[in-house]
Amino acid sequence: MVAMQAAEPNRPHTHCCYCSMQCGIELVRSAPDAAPTVKASPHFPVATGRLCQKGMHAMAHAVHPERVLAPMRRQQAAGPGEAWSRAGWEEALDDIAARMLSIQERYGRDAVSVFGGGSLTNEVCYLLGKFARVALRSRYIDYNGRYCMSSAAAAQMRAFGVDRGMSLPLDDIPLAKYIILAGTNIAECQPTMVPYILAAKKNGAIVVTIDPRQTMTAKLADIHVSLQPGFDSVFVNGLLHHIVHGGLYDQAYVAAHTNGLAELRDAIAPFPPDRVSLYTGIPVEVIRTIAAGFARAETGIVLTARGLEQQVNGVEHTLNYINLCLLTGKMGKPGCGFGAVTGQANGQGGREHGQKADQLPGYRLIEDPEARRHVAGVWGIDPDELPGKGVSAYELFGKIHDGKIKAMLVLGSNPLVSSPNSARVAEALAKLELLVVVDMFATETAAYAHWLLPGSSFLEAEGTLTNLEGRVFHREKALPSPGETMEDFRLIGRLAEKLGRGRYFRFDSPEDVFAELARASAGGKADYGGMTYARIKERQGLFWPCPAEGHPGTPRMFADGRFEHPDGRARLHGIVPQKPAETTDRDYPYILTTGRLGNHYLSGAQTRRTEGLLKKAPVPVAELHPSVAERIRLRHGDRVRLTTRRGSLVFDVKLSADIHPTTVFVPFHWGGEQSVNALTNDALHPVSRMPEFKVCAVRVEREAAE
Ligand code: SF4
Repeated sequence: MVAMQAAEPNRPHTHCCYCSMQCGIELVRSAPDAAPTVKASPHFPVATGRLCQKGMHAMAHAVHPERVLAPMRRQQAAGPGEAWSRAGWEEALDDIAARMLSIQERYGRDAVSVFGGGSLTNEVCYLLGKFARVALRSRYIDYNGRYCMSSAAAAQMRAFGVDRGMSLPLDDIPLAKYIILAGTNIAECQPTMVPYILAAKKNGAIVVTIDPRQTMTAKLADIHVSLQPGFDSVFVNGLLHHIVHGGLYDQAYVAAHTNGLAELRDAIAPFPPDRVSLYTGIPVEVIRTIAAGFARAETGIVLTARGLEQQVNGVEHTLNYINLCLLTGKMGKPGCGFGAVTGQANGQGGREHGQKADQLPGYRLIEDPEARRHVAGVWGIDPDELPGKGVSAYELFGKIHDGKIKAMLVLGSNPLVSSPNSARVAEALAKLELLVVVDMFATETAAYAHWLLPGSSFLEAEGTLTNLEGRVFHREKALPSPGETMEDFRLIGRLAEKLGRGRYFRFDSPEDVFAELARASAGGKADYGGMTYARIKERQGLFWPCPAEGHPGTPRMFADGRFEHPDGRARLHGIVPQKPAETTDRDYPYILTTGRLGNHYLSGAQTRRTEGLLKKAPVPVAELHPSVAERIRLRHGDRVRLTTRRGSLVFDVKLSADIHPTTVFVPFHWGGEQSVNALTNDALHPVSRMPEFKVCAVRVEREAAE
């Protein structure tokens, strides 16, 4: 959106470590020996010259005094309390490898598991997947992106035959005349994306937000729909009904490029707008206005996020919004498309290169014989050596409870805070014979670890990441590794050596890893085959698919009207709305939902250690409607006790008329007694295995001020 300038020498260029915008950062020193400070970089085309408050504070955690800078060990298993003692790398890796091998000898190879993250570089994600399958030869690997993008991934695979979060580049947003933002709060979660929406508004776009809260994003909208969590598919069926029965859909596009219209017609038949209005409380005219407005607009975009995706019906909710784009022919053209806005720094790349329980690099399915042959060929092993598919992130903890998993390596994740029903996760971690956590800090998860190995910050490790658009870009190593920290790709390689599988992990640099990743992904759905570091740097990022050296990359997908199913057609899906896993009743009469704040990121391991961010949001606060406060006779200064079928916690309160009267919102960035995930429901979607983070039944009681 803004013309780029040439990078200045002597100012290391990197990218913010937080959200999927991956804004460019320069490190600036006032004097050669002064500590560097962060400045927005004008050299990255996604958010030229802009940083939000998290980006401005991104250095703080990297130089925090609590950084773990050497391997640390504890003798006893389980639980916070016992002190760490410092160890050397040789001692650490020898002990970890010996214990992993011993566990595998006693219980089988699958007894050792890996839990990865969606903020790691593509190279580390790729190596973790390879480490599980080739070094450990275990089927059990998954990652925290399962809690983030799995509904959107499953929906896009079903509808389009391929899963790239956004089918369009951000530069298409200002060309859209109608924008629907459903369950996405970009103003707090991806703040530097807001100028794209404002540019569209300036060009005459209508913006609609759909959310149980009138968020900061909703305040930018022309129309805000306050929808109770869980009613997403019901609401969209009302839109689709008005479009189909009003003859507003793009009949030529649907006939030429899609299958499934008859099934969709059957599913929406019981949902005329007036009935949807009765179910949801949304005025019928609002439903008709949005439906007709989107259908008639020359161009239009739908963006979704975790609000509707983190549900046991999240795949179906997402599919219904995709239906809206396909029915109105708003795909593959400038200013048109569907996007599921990725949350984590590398939420896109993190799910493409083999961290998922059922996938190999390039989105290849691990149970597909041809995929196994290809990847085994790149890895130099027999395809029969590759294990089969494992289980999803949350189910790994079930396998610990079942006695099937005895050891876990956690890298770049804090699952004790980010998993639902977290007390069950804590019980599982306490049962492990060996827990190894690689992190910058002694996180809540690390409290259960036997070994805590120092992880690198975003400033200390080179690699590539893939932003929310599907743009693969390079991040340089901006600062030397502090203390005894070791870059993750080296750590994985050295542990593989100790396990006797080092010959498959001899890489001199992340660029070497990337070259192998590109070969492994070649011919897959997420095809990086034509990418090299040189090309990525020269072009300020390349969009996948990029199958050959001279290929320019693919910013806008489906531009030729072809989708990735064998017949080239997209699939419409008739969605019959289902109830959430838990419904309200007399004991639990409200809906608890969770989400992010603008000041924090994921489990808060970094942002809770950043003074400038923590002082703005020091504790989680439960947001509820004044009508709820009246019903429970809340007085000034009181707190609330929230109780679900899994637990009970007390929170400070914020009263707001901007939240749906049935709904209580609590942000999820804290651990321990402040962790709302102690209350959330661990029911999983049958296919995506996404937990029901966003909807569970809750009781709200007054906790009198002391
Ligand atoms: Fe940019 Fe996201 Fe970082 Fe904010 S948090 S500076 S929007 S990458």
